[in-house]
Amino acid sequence: MAYNITLIPGDGIGPEVIGAARKVIDASGVDISWEIVEAGAISNKNLGTPLPNYVINSIKKNKIALKGPVTTPIGEGFKSVNVTLRQNLNLFANIRPIKSYEGIESIHKNVDFVVVRENTEDLYTGIEHMVGEDAAESIKIITKDASERICRFAFELARREGRKKVTLVHKANIMKLSDGLFLRCGKEIAKEYTDIEFEDIIVDAMSMKLVQNPQNYDVIVAPNLYGDILSDLSAGLVGGLGLAPGANIGEDIAVFESVHGSAPDIAGKNIANPTSAILSGVMMLKYIGEERVAKKIENALAETLKDKGTIDLGGNLGTEEFAQEVIKNLK
Ligand code: NAD
Repeated sequence: MAYNITLIPGDGIGPEVIGAARKVIDASGVDISWEIVEAGAISNKNLGTPLPNYVINSIKKNKIALKGPVTTPIGEGFKSVNVTLRQNLNLFANIRPIKSYEGIESIHKNVDFVVVRENTEDLYTGIEHMVGEDAAESIKIITKDASERICRFAFELARREGRKKVTLVHKANIMKLSDGLFLRCGKEIAKEYTDIEFEDIIVDAMSMKLVQNPQNYDVIVAPNLYGDILSDLSAGLVGGLGLAPGANIGEDIAVFESVHGSAPDIAGKNIANPTSAILSGVMMLKYIGEERVAKKIENALAETLKDKGTIDLGGNLGTEEFAQEVIKNLK
């Protein structure tokens, strides 16, 4: 059966890493008809919006998208395409698996956990305003519905993947109402999953513990901002952003994308690591039920990473050459 899937190349290193991921997926034998759509600065210039309706409509129609990173202007300009997409399509769960691979030089070995980040609210609602000229306010929104939904999602993921523990991250000692609500919701949901251990921890302590003993964690659930920061930190523990895939999951729509951004410092040089984009593709294939093909790509990737890598991993392969090595290892 052919799958119709939306492909958003993005900008910066996006077209390079997504191009590499597409080649690997196409070579794996799965039959995908890609619908390619553009978002970001180019659309903003040409069409007056960074996220044209046809992009949203394509994803709504196909239900699945593989997306490259999109640059967000800092401190001015248009609102983040990524955040808008997640909010518009109600992609409430952001899943970021963190895993160490053999052959990769990293601070830690034997790491295997998943960060489940709430994706629709917290400080990312973008509700902020100036108070006079010299002060600014951002509104942090935490609701019972969204908190319960993401905590339930984390426990369900733990069960599905045979994981043993869910760790909820918060700062409820200071933000007693907002983070307090998130924590209360987590504790309530935990009562429905007595087969899975539950603990909660304050985000600053968690940052230290993750750096010291990441092997202690299995599933981490967090509000939007802490989830964002901890997932980059976690990627750093196992070899960097070039290795960390991600998925934005809603009720019946899912958008798969790397944790990293558009990396303008290395764009257009054929040196970006496409592993996170390829692994996002692997997550996508698992999601649509193509487990066997997903495993095949994952094995080929692990084989390639064992003795060959891109520059960020101390190797000397270019983005394109790395993808070709993975394709050679597909069996
Ligand atoms: P970044 O993740 O793009 O880059 C951080 C560092 O990691 C850079 O040194 C970069 O070279 C390196 N890096 C990232 N991906 C890599 C890869 N695949 N291979 C090798 N090295 C890699 O973060 P940034 O520089 O803070 O952000 C750049 C832009 O990306 C910003 O406009 C930001 O808003 C946007 N962004 C987009 C997304 C998304 O589209 N989902 C996510 C994060 C950031």
